[in-house]
Amino acid sequence: MNNMRIDILTVVPELLDSPLNHSIVERAQKKGYVEIHVHNIRKYGLGPRKSVDDYCYGGDAGMVMMVEPVFRMISELKAEREYDEVIYMSPDGEVLNQGIANELSLKQNLIILCGHYKGIDHRIREHLITREISVGDYVLSGGEIPAALLADAIVRLIPGVLSDETSALSDCFQDNLLSPPVYTRPAEFNGWKVPDVLLSGNPRLIREWQDEQAIARTRALRPDLLDE
Ligand code: SAH
Repeated sequence: MNNMRIDILTVVPELLDSPLNHSIVERAQKKGYVEIHVHNIRKYGLGPRKSVDDYCYGGDAGMVMMVEPVFRMISELKAEREYDEVIYMSPDGEVLNQGIANELSLKQNLIILCGHYKGIDHRIREHLITREISVGDYVLSGGEIPAALLADAIVRLIPGVLSDETSALSDCFQDNLLSPPVYTRPAEFNGWKVPDVLLSGNPRLIREWQDEQAIARTRALRPDLLDE
C-alpha cells in the first residue's frame, strides 16, 4: 500500500479541520492510505507572544511570515523522515491541474506550507521550498483552502481510495477530456428523460455514447484541451 504522508504547515489550523475530516479524504485516512498532519507554525513562534509574522521591509503595508518559525517547523519534520517535496501554495506558482495531482499522488512524503497575511519571507522560498503551486489566477487570504484543495485532488488518486479505481480514471481531465453526463433513477422525472441508450443494457453502445459525449462536451466547453 502506498502509505502516503502529508504534513500541512499553517498559522490557522482551524481552517483545515473540516475539509480534511469528512467524506473521501477522511475515509482515506481511516483506511490508512494516507496520514495527514496539520501543524501550527505558532509552536515555534518568537517571543512571549509566539509571533510568527512581522512588518514588511521597505514600508509596504501588511505583515509577512518570518523565516525562523517556518524553518524550525520544517527542520523538525525533516529530522524524522525524508520529504519528496516541500510545497508552498502561492498565487505565482505553477497552476494546479490533474497532471500535477497525478504526479504528486505517487509520492511518499509531502510538506505543504500555507502562507498568510502578505505572504512569506522570500528566503523561505529560496532555501526551503522545492515547488510552488497555485490554485488559479486569483488571490485568497491564506494558503489553507488551496492546501486542502491540493490534498483532496491528490488523495482521491491514491490507488484504492475510491471504491472503484476506474471512477478516478473516468473523471474529467484524466485523458484531456471532460466527463460525459451522468444520471440516476428515476428514468423519467417531470417529463425529463434519461437518454434511452443508458437504459439499453448494452455496454458497448453505452461506452460509445459516453465517448461521443465526452468529445462533444470538450469541443464545446474546453476546445483548448483537445489541442494539447
Ligand atoms: N501578496 C501575495 C498574496 C498573499 S495571499 C501576492 O500577491 O502574491 C496570502 C497567502 O495565500 C499566500 O501566501 C498563499 O499561501 C495563499 N494564496 C493566495 N492565493 C493563492 C492561490 N491562488 N494559490 C495558492 N495559494 C494562494
